[in-house]
This record gives sequence, structure tokens and C-alpha cells, in this order.
Amino acid sequence: MTTASFHPPERTLMGPGPSDVHPRILEALSRPTIGHLDPVFVGMMEEVKGLLQYAFRTENALTFPVSAPGSAGMEMCFANLVEPGDKVVVCQNGVFGGRMQENVERCGGTAVMVQDEWGQPVDPAKVEAALSEHPDAKILAFVHAETSTGAQSDAKKLAAIAREHDCLTIMDAVTSLGGTPVEIDAWGIDAVYSGTQKCLSCIPGISPVSFSERATEAIQKRETKVQSWFLDLNLVMGYWGSGGGKRAYHHTAPINPLYAFHESLVLLQEEGLENAWSRHQQMHAALKAGVEAMGLSFFVAKADRLPQLNSITVPDGVDEAAVRSRLLEQYNLEIGAGLGPMAGKIWRIGLMGHSANPTNVLTCLGALEAVLADMGADITTGKAVSAAMAQLGD
Ligand code: PLP
Repeated sequence: MTTASFHPPERTLMGPGPSDVHPRILEALSRPTIGHLDPVFVGMMEEVKGLLQYAFRTENALTFPVSAPGSAGMEMCFANLVEPGDKVVVCQNGVFGGRMQENVERCGGTAVMVQDEWGQPVDPAKVEAALSEHPDAKILAFVHAETSTGAQSDAKKLAAIAREHDCLTIMDAVTSLGGTPVEIDAWGIDAVYSGTQKCLSCIPGISPVSFSERATEAIQKRETKVQSWFLDLNLVMGYWGSGGGKRAYHHTAPINPLYAFHESLVLLQEEGLENAWSRHQQMHAALKAGVEAMGLSFFVAKADRLPQLNSITVPDGVDEAAVRSRLLEQYNLEIGAGLGPMAGKIWRIGLMGHSANPTNVLTCLGALEAVLADMGADITTGKAVSAAMAQLGD
């Protein structure tokens, strides 16, 4: 038996990530593979670091992409900053805060949990109380944009509270980077990780990270070895280096995916970071107009909503999984399901990166309305697309 080449269907990706990959990024991926220590490749690595500093709004020298997905960026932050016996205040208001707790405990630390309801942002008052109660805490960790619910937390305020308590901060910016403001230096964030497959519209499998000088010093002062060889920053930096110095082999970099990532950052620079943020906001406003014209509602309160991750409450009596299957089969459109306690209760519609465009907004509204109407759901028909178009203007 022979197996044929794999040709995936063309989908419109409007779930929680990956988002639609820009054609220029796919083209970059197919450029000739060269060696990972080739001087031309090393020159490109330096450009990636500079472009990433722009995206993160930081001057941190230790800013580079980890050769693995967002979860590895997360592990790199915890594995390097948490030593056995350290206390870390971890905020949880969705799935990903729970993963932070796992990371702290696997590094031999103690996680002091600050819990908020799913769909709510992290409550700064609770964080203040936890840090006052635990003056020996070394780190505050929180998710800026909780992908499982679509809620955004006030990172600036949380980082300021951490500083008052002389704590380092670890921030998850997987879904926020490129979609909403992320200000690493202005907010004083010490360690941040992100992903490429959300608002940067790149392929998955790379995780940009950045560490402040304070974080770098804390890592240098460690008394114990980082328990992960692959993620030990001291070793990785021998390859990613600083200031264009000589590179030592650490691992074979994902060469073509890094071309793709370089292209995605070039695209971001061409558009301008602020323009990318406002495009995400405009597309969200158009989607919101259409969703509400249909009679559907948002799960997260207006003030806390992420423009790039829209959680829509599933109307009573509707089989949400059947709706997603029909969107995929009939319209080649992917939207996301709820996770954990939100399973069956919400859909997650992503407007991330290249997916945040008027065509996708109108396609999604038209297809969702057609499927829901056909299934007999109690919605208003014939208004959603025009409401979104009115919002989009000429
Ligand atoms: N953190 C958040 C907030 C995420 O949304 C995700 C992925 O969706 C991750 C971490 C993990 O990233 P990855 O799936 O690239 O490992």
C-alpha cells in the first residue's frame, strides 16, 4: 500500500489559534534551507532579536525565540527563575494559570494561588492581599490574555504591585502579543513568553521570550542548576548569543520556521504595532455589531474583553459542537469550543493577526447565522452582516 502526499484543505482559521498564516509567511517557509551556523543565518537571527524587541516594546538584550511552542517559553521562564523552595504567587482565571501552577510545582517551588472566576480578569486587590500575606514570595505570575475565556487582565497594575513587594513578574503574552498593547519595559515585566500562531499569524512551534536585567541577575545568582538542559538559558544563550558574538552549537534551530517568523515580524513592522492593535479592535467592533444584531451575547464583560478572542454564549438548546462541525464541513470555517468548565457553554471566535480582516468577519457572521437558522435556533436573521458592514464603514 502506498500513502499519497498530504494536502490539507484550505480553511479559514477563526478559533483560539493557530490563526490564518499570511501568504508571505508561507512563502518564506519554502526558501532554501541553510546551516544554522551559516553567517547569513546568524545575521538573520540578529534581525529577529531586534524585531522582537520592537514587538515586545523592550530594550532587553535577552530577547529571542525559543525553538518550541508557547508551552516551552512558559517552561523556560519558570525553569530558570524558580528554584526548589521558592514561593510564587500564581493568578488563575482560566486554563493557563493552572499550567503555571504545574510549572512552579514541577520546579520544586510552592504556588500560592490567587483564584478568580473564569471570564473575569485577575483582581489586583487579591494579588495585593496575597503578596502582603506572603512577603517571602519571589515571583508573581499571571496570564495577560486568557485564551480560554477571552478576558484581559491589567498587566500594568499587576506588575506595579509586584514591584512594590520586591517580586519578579512572569507574564504569559501568548495571545496578547501583536493584538493588544504589550509594554514590557514601560510596565516593568521581568519575564515574558508568547507564541507565534496567534496575533503574529505565523506557523506554530516557536515561542518568543524576553528577560529583564533583574531576571537575568536572578538567574545568574541561582544556587541550583536549571533542571532542564534544553531550556537552561545559560546554555541557550551560547547559541542565540548577544551582540553578534560567536555562536556555539546548542541545538539545531528550526531554520525554515525562523525564516517564517522573521517574515511575520517584518509584516508587523510594516503595518506598525499601533496599527495592528487598532485593526484588531476595529474587527472586534464589527464582529460584535453582527453578533449582537443576531441576538447573541458575549461571555466576558465589555471592559475586560480581548478583541482577538471573542467568547460568545451558546444559546439555550443549541448543540454547540454540531454548529462547529457544520461550519467546518460546509464553510471550511474553524471556530473554537469552550475549555474546561466553559465546554458546551461558549464558542471562542478568534480575530488574530492575519485572520483579523473584514472578509473573515463577514464570512463568519454569515455562516454562523445560516447554520444557526437552519438548526432552528432562536436568533434574529438578516441583520448581522449589515450591522458589521455599517461598523466597518467604506
Ligand atoms: N498560554 C496561553 C495563554 C495560550 O493560549 C497557549 C496556547 O493556546 C499557551 C500558553 C501554550 O502555547 P502552545 O500551544 O503554543 O504551546
